[in-house]
Amino acid sequence: MAAEVLAQGGVRVDLYDAMPSVGRKFLLAGVGGMNITHSEPFDAFLSRYGARAAVIQPLLEAFSPDALREWIHGLGVETFIGSSGRVFPRDMKAAPLLRAWLHRLREAGVRFHVRHRWMGWSDEDALRFAIPQGDSDPLRAEARVESYALQGEIAVQTDAVVLALGGGSWAKLGSDGAWAPLLAQRGIDVAPLVPSNCGFDVAGGWSEHLRGRFAGQPLKTVALRFTDAVGHSHMRKGELMLSDTGIEGSLVYALSAPLRDTIAAQGAVTVQLDLAPDKTHERVIAEVAHPRGARSLSSHLQSRAGIKGAKMALLHEVLPAAQLNDPIQLANAIKSLPLTLGAPRPLDEAISSAGGVRFESLDETLMLRDLPGVFCAGEMLDWEAPTGGYLLTACFASGRVAGQGALNYLTEKL
Ligand SMILES: Cc1cc2nc3c(=O)[nH]c(=O)nc-3n(C[C@H](O)[C@H](O)[C@H](O)COP(=O)(O)OP(=O)(O)OC[C@H]3O[C@@H](n4cnc5c(N)ncnc54)[C@H](O)[C@@H]3O)c2cc1C
Repeated sequence: MAAEVLAQGGVRVDLYDAMPSVGRKFLLAGVGGMNITHSEPFDAFLSRYGARAAVIQPLLEAFSPDALREWIHGLGVETFIGSSGRVFPRDMKAAPLLRAWLHRLREAGVRFHVRHRWMGWSDEDALRFAIPQGDSDPLRAEARVESYALQGEIAVQTDAVVLALGGGSWAKLGSDGAWAPLLAQRGIDVAPLVPSNCGFDVAGGWSEHLRGRFAGQPLKTVALRFTDAVGHSHMRKGELMLSDTGIEGSLVYALSAPLRDTIAAQGAVTVQLDLAPDKTHERVIAEVAHPRGARSLSSHLQSRAGIKGAKMALLHEVLPAAQLNDPIQLANAIKSLPLTLGAPRPLDEAISSAGGVRFESLDETLMLRDLPGVFCAGEMLDWEAPTGGYLLTACFASGRVAGQGALNYLTEKL
C-alpha cells in the first residue's frame, strides 16, 4: 500500500522481500476464505482494536473499511458481505487480488527485488540486504538465485524507507520477527512479539484417548467464561475445537488476548465451558435428572440435553466417575465445565502476533521519531485484533498512512 501511494506520487520505489515471492502470508490468508474486512458500523469496527483503538482510529479514518472495499473493486475484484457481516472477495481467494495488484504496481513503476533480506543499516546508514551470493545487482538477483546457502550483501542508499516486515508467526512465509532486534539496537522501543489469535494448551495435556479420538473435532455452540488477571469477566458464545494439546478455533481466538495476558500474569487460567448455552441451568438439571431407565448415560444426555461426541468425551475427560453419575453435579458441569489452560500455543503457530514497534516511537505519519525517514506499517506495529478482517484492514490502512507520510517527507526534504 505504501509502495502504491509513493509510486502514484511520482517517487521511484524499490520493494524488497526476503522470500522468493511477495505476499506469501496474504496468499495463505486466502486459503480458508480471505476475510478482507468487516461491514459493521465504524465505532463497532474500531472497538475491535481494544486498548489500541485510539491509535488505530486515525489510520482507519485515513483509509476506512469502505475505502478498502472500493480499492479492491478498483482492482477488478468484486466483494460480498457474508451472513456474519464479514467481507470477502467474490471468489474468497487472495491470489487474483494479489495478481492484479502486483500488475498495477509494476505498471506504476515499482521495482520488485525478492530474496533480499534486510539486515539493518550500514555505518553509512545505507540499508543492508543479504542476497544470494553472486548477485550484486539487485535488479538481476530475482531470476538466478536459488537459496541463501551462499550469501552476499548489498547496501542501498534511500531517501526514505517504509518497513512492513510483518509479525512473528508462520516464519516459513517470511515474517519471522528477526527485524525486532535490528530496530531495538537503534534504540527503538519494540514490545516483545507474542501470539495472538492462537490456541491454548490445557494444563497436564489431554489423555491419550481424547487426543487420539477427538483432536480436531469441533464443539459447536459452547460458551466460554473466565475472569482475567485484572478482575474483568469475559463471556463469549461460539465454536471451538479440541486440538492435540488443548483448545483452538474462532471462539478461543476471539478471547486469546485476555487469556494470554492472564496466563502471563498468573501462570494459568481456568475457564468455564458451558456445553449447553442455549438451555437454562434449571432446564439442564431437569433434563439430566429425568429417569433414564436402561439407557446408557451417553444416549440419555444426547436425547435429553443434546450432549454428544466431543462434548461427551470432554465430560468424561474432566469429571470423575462419581460426578458423572450424580445428575446435579453432572448438570452443573454441563453448564460450567472447568478447564485450566497452562500456555498459549507457540508464536509461530498463531494467526497473528501482538507486540511490535510501540506507537509512542512513531509520529502520526508512522515515522520513527528517532530515525527520520524510516516509517513502519502493518502487523509489525504494536496492536492486535481478532479475526474478522480487522487484521488486514489495519495493515492496509497503516501502509497507506506510512506511504503518504513518506511521500510528504520526501516532498519537503527534496
Ligand atoms: C493462516 C492465516 C490466516 C489469516 N487470515 C486472515 C484473514 O482472513 N483476514 C485478515 O484480516 N487477516 C488474516 N490473517 C492475518 C494477515 O495475513 C496478516 O495480519 C497480514 O498478512 C500482515 O501483513 P503485513 O504486510 O504486516 O505482514 P506480512 O504479510 O507478514 O508480510 C511481511 C513481509 O515482510 C517480509 N520480511 C520479513 N522480514 C524481512 C526482512 N528482514 N527482509 C526482507 N523482507 C522481510 C516477509 O517475507 C513478508 O513478505 C491470517 C493469517 C494467517 C497466518
